[in-house]
Amino acid sequence: MKHLVVFDVPSIKDYVFGTDRLVEIRGASALLDHLNRIGTERFLKTALGDTAVDLVFAGGGASQFLLNGDEGRIDDVIEELKGCFVKESRGGLRLVSGRAEMVRGQYRESLASAFMRMKQEKEENPFRSTPAMHSGLIRECDSCSGMATTVEEHAGDEVILCDTCHRKLDFGRTNKGLWRGFEEFLDSRGANDTFERPTTFEEIGSSSKKAGYLALVYADGNHMGKIIRSIDDRKQFAFFSQTIDTCIREACHEALAESLAIPAVRADILLLGGDDLLVCLSADAAFPFAISVADKFHEKTKARFGRSGLAPVGTREEGVTLSLGIAFGKSHTPFFVLLEQAEELLRSAKRGGSCDVTANDSYVPSYIDFHDTSQFNQVHVHDSRERFLTRRHVRHELHFHCRPYSLDQAHKLLQHAAAIVASDLPRSRTIRLRQAPFLGKMNGTIECLKLIGRVKEKGQRQVLLDALNELDCLTSLPWRDLEGTVCSTALVDLIELTELMR
Ligand SMILES: [Zn+2]
Repeated sequence: MKHLVVFDVPSIKDYVFGTDRLVEIRGASALLDHLNRIGTERFLKTALGDTAVDLVFAGGGASQFLLNGDEGRIDDVIEELKGCFVKESRGGLRLVSGRAEMVRGQYRESLASAFMRMKQEKEENPFRSTPAMHSGLIRECDSCSGMATTVEEHAGDEVILCDTCHRKLDFGRTNKGLWRGFEEFLDSRGANDTFERPTTFEEIGSSSKKAGYLALVYADGNHMGKIIRSIDDRKQFAFFSQTIDTCIREACHEALAESLAIPAVRADILLLGGDDLLVCLSADAAFPFAISVADKFHEKTKARFGRSGLAPVGTREEGVTLSLGIAFGKSHTPFFVLLEQAEELLRSAKRGGSCDVTANDSYVPSYIDFHDTSQFNQVHVHDSRERFLTRRHVRHELHFHCRPYSLDQAHKLLQHAAAIVASDLPRSRTIRLRQAPFLGKMNGTIECLKLIGRVKEKGQRQVLLDALNELDCLTSLPWRDLEGTVCSTALVDLIELTELMR
């Protein structure tokens, strides 16, 4: 009898990012990637025999298999595999599964029922990655407050860790994890460059032009659930998910190699696979990296799905796109704050994409949202924008930003921010320009005209005028849509980006 089995690891982010130390994060990420993409298949083949195991897809923590054999035996092996995940992660990771009989010609139905069972298992046993409780007299783990068991040294500091966190650190030290994939990519290109991998977030922060700042870029595929639901056989599922996984890895590696070609830039890959990407890098490199990843991913999926009969129908013309969120902050910002903001920005980018005029049932354009948390003392991006970047009047509303940006607009924003940096326009001038819109609708215009008029150097003035013109903020300087009830401006976004790049 054939069985379709799906696996997933719930609360991945709690496990991988339950610490502020880079080496533990990447150790956790590497261990998860290893168990997901290599460990699971190996375990099943050893237990059931090579020919009984057909891997459909594994990546991003999830996997799918067709298994041949007796129902009872398969269930036993799945239970053993779950034990292996707990053991390997010292209690940090849990595997959940759903199994359904594979009825010939009814792949989609079998998959839906396997997913349904997995969902049930998740809901019935909610899981929190909590190591052993401590009694109050025993030292707490420096990373997660669990019961500490080991003393370790890292980056010159003594750290006291629990079993789960120690396992992450240990795995991170002895395994290159996601960085290995990047090095293999560089080798495959015949590139001789070896890039230095940072060991701490502080190291990434101090590599930025704006010292002490770093960025977290979070991306994931648009419309994925919808496309997957339209797939009706194993071959198509395997082709689709493998193509997406390959495209996101390639796009990430290529864009990262471009970023790291700038000698000062430092970056690390924190999550990569499935349709997800999370990269931490120098603040000035983040926006160009994000745009490049989005472009490359779209080109690659368009090319591969366009020429394959196996591609799901909706992907053949336009491929698949990404949404991206970039959270900028100081390198000592608690990691979970940056991560939550990156997630919030990603959701905002997705909303932007689905509201775009070109969006339809099978295509959503790429959107990017970004936020510099150090400018505001709010945890949520939405609160910062409501409190500081929006002003409501009786007849009109002022929005001091135009985020999220479509990929086209993001290109323009980046190009003009770079031009302003290159023009050497004094920082005092750009900072005052950034403040101008906050003076109000009329006064903002007057202040902008005054400030731009006072720029003596003709070239520098032209750079500003070109930027505002192309961002549709020149006619009613600095506002867009002055006729409507909502006036917005891209000027603040432009200057914020400029300041992160110099
Ligand atoms: Zn711990």
